[in-house]
Amino acid sequence: MPATPAWPPKSVPRLYVPDRDLEVGSEMVLDDQHGHYLANVMRLRVDAQVMLFDNETGEYLASITEVKKSAVTIIIEEWMRERESVPDLWLCAAPIKKDRWHFMAEKACELGIDRFCPVRTERTISDRIRMDKLEAHMIEAAEQCERTALPSIAEIQDLPDMLAQWPEGRHIFFADERLFERGQGSFRKALVDHPGPAAILIGPEGGFTDKENLMIRQHAQSVAVSLGPRILRAETAALAAISLWMSGRGDWTPES
Ligand code: SAH
Repeated sequence: MPATPAWPPKSVPRLYVPDRDLEVGSEMVLDDQHGHYLANVMRLRVDAQVMLFDNETGEYLASITEVKKSAVTIIIEEWMRERESVPDLWLCAAPIKKDRWHFMAEKACELGIDRFCPVRTERTISDRIRMDKLEAHMIEAAEQCERTALPSIAEIQDLPDMLAQWPEGRHIFFADERLFERGQGSFRKALVDHPGPAAILIGPEGGFTDKENLMIRQHAQSVAVSLGPRILRAETAALAAISLWMSGRGDWTPES
């Protein structure tokens, strides 16, 4: 991924602007929450600069040509860089309490997952997923962290259905807290033995049932892994597992 451009200065606000055909020279009116944010929160005026990205064609530098209440007209001046690529890693997680769920989604986005797949398990407590809220947390993190790509978010699936429809060629690194005491589940070994597209599967606060544990382990592409001797909360387990995978199989090691 090209380095983040030194110019313009980092203070320039960045906005995720989907479904608009962004191209150099085009003008557009931002009269939704973006217009309100630029005009009334950031109090920007004519000639101020804004960075836009659309999670498809890349990142653009624009400048404001008119401010009317919450309608801000901008003109796109320069294409800055292409949409970044992220490693082919999915996070499959059972929904947990709302704040922690949003935290998990936001941090997984920052850590570079490509897709977020909510999965309903027997002990899932809150399974009313607000996709718009999940996406909003990811967008905010992406805007703040100078990202040009967002993870896709899948519709929630029941665990048996997800496993039955699981795509060929993608390993499921199944985090099982029971493995450590048996001396099993070395993540490091799992990474060495299982290259290629991957997913991490994390259970709900109450863990997987024995029946679910067996069902997952019987799946041809599942790889049971341990996250050490201490029980972690689901959101901690998700972020620890993603970090281990990113370091071992992702893009955290600079190409020498
Ligand atoms: N049954 C415990 C653990 C659930 S934690 C409880 O009730 O709190 C939620 C999920 O995090 C687990 O289903 C598992 O996927 C993961 N997890 C937590 N600690 C782990 C560890 N030390 N090793 C592997 N997975 C772990």
